Amino acid sequence: MSSLFRSLPSVDACLRALEERFPSTAHAVLRESCRAVLETLREDIRAGLVKDASELTVEAVLPRLCSAVEKSTRPRLRRVLNGAGVVVHTNLGRSVLAKKAQEAVRVAASGYSNLEFDLETGERGSRISLVEELLTTLTGAEAALVVNNNAAAVLLMLDTLCKGGEVILSRGQLVEIGGSFRIPDVMERSGAALKEVGTTNRTHLADYEKALSENTRAVLWVHPSNYRIIGFHSSVPPAELAAFAHAHGLPLLEDLGSGSLLDFSQWGLHDEPTVPEVLKAGTDVVTFSGDKVLGGPQAGIIVGRKEYVDRMKRNQLLRALRCDKLTLAALEATLSLYLDKETALREVPTVRRMTMSADLLHARAETLRALLEKELGPLAGCSLKSDFSRVGGGAFPEQGMPTTLIAIKPAGISAAQLKKRLLRTDPPLIGRLEDPYFQLDPRTLEEEDFPDAVRVLKQALCDNR
Ligand SMILES: *Cc1c(COP(=O)(O)O)cnc(C)c1O
Repeated sequence: MSSLFRSLPSVDACLRALEERFPSTAHAVLRESCRAVLETLREDIRAGLVKDASELTVEAVLPRLCSAVEKSTRPRLRRVLNGAGVVVHTNLGRSVLAKKAQEAVRVAASGYSNLEFDLETGERGSRISLVEELLTTLTGAEAALVVNNNAAAVLLMLDTLCKGGEVILSRGQLVEIGGSFRIPDVMERSGAALKEVGTTNRTHLADYEKALSENTRAVLWVHPSNYRIIGFHSSVPPAELAAFAHAHGLPLLEDLGSGSLLDFSQWGLHDEPTVPEVLKAGTDVVTFSGDKVLGGPQAGIIVGRKEYVDRMKRNQLLRALRCDKLTLAALEATLSLYLDKETALREVPTVRRMTMSADLLHARAETLRALLEKELGPLAGCSLKSDFSRVGGGAFPEQGMPTTLIAIKPAGISAAQLKKRLLRTDPPLIGRLEDPYFQLDPRTLEEEDFPDAVRVLKQALCDNR
């Protein structure tokens, strides 16, 4: 074994071979690839996988060296096939943009634009005006503003309207949302003091009343996102809370989380008020995400009464929280699709996936099953199973959407092994593990994704490592 270690090529020899192949690649990349490959060769020797010194010549290890360089120069952010059936999957980039939004991003990215240039006057303009009118038209709000994400929107709202004072919030809404967004922490950052009222399960108007003081700046309502209190509970309806806040000269602010412009109850998704409904109930400022149920780019959207939104527009913090032109391009295009409800239902992928019929999903599942059966043959068994997809993004947390899954039972390896191997295919394919099955939900796979899905599944099943 020690003679095998001595036969390992030197870093310099490997480097020279790589320099010839990749004359313009950064030296640090080539050196790191050599180091990594030599390290795995040492491990292989220790594990008894190398039998002969002839396997350790520079020529013999060159393919490994080259693939190490290729791997380290390919993009880290890659396309992934989502077969998990979670429409707004935060780990997989949340919403897929509509074609029109993709095109708007391409145009904004590939040339100069009137981002902050008023084409009517020829003078400096505001980037926010690009989407403000669409937002006020679609929500019925007096004014609107857009920042980087909803966390930034909440921060800006509290910093502008409540800094140095107190904000009243029900203990039932003191939540932490995935990715460690905690309302009390955001509030602390904004310099507003949290005044908790009520209990976890029940908060009454009298609790809010008792918490009022001369330092009170606002009443806050936070959407509990993917958290629910069930059983013996009660909260003050927003309309009542708005009337209470206004009677004391205070604004009612709401972090709506995954705000929606459409009512999805016709599709069996209930109990999420739309942004226009929340405003109509009397809430003065509402914040929500651009990339959750709305189906646009990452953004934090703020809509509400002009006097409050105008104050936020003058806050210096906005300069640090503003979003870039690619976001604004995608958001404008996405919002414009909502000007016609049927267009939004058809063209915004998130909305389309939330409203797909069970029949269509069954037909899609059957198409994929037939393709897999033909291509995989004895490598796996494929059957269909009725189950539920989820919206994700904290929206409609306990409401499943009926779907048909393709359940794949691999021959020779376990479903867990298959799942692991599919993380390393190109593109990777994400599915649901339900031992002994690996399951795919056609709700989040387009028909145009099927050939890739079939190919990587076949590759993963054939892979005999
Ligand atoms: C998702 C969510 C947030 C955070 O929104 P981002 O756009 O991810 O910053 C804040 N509040 C609620 C209630 C949410 O659901």
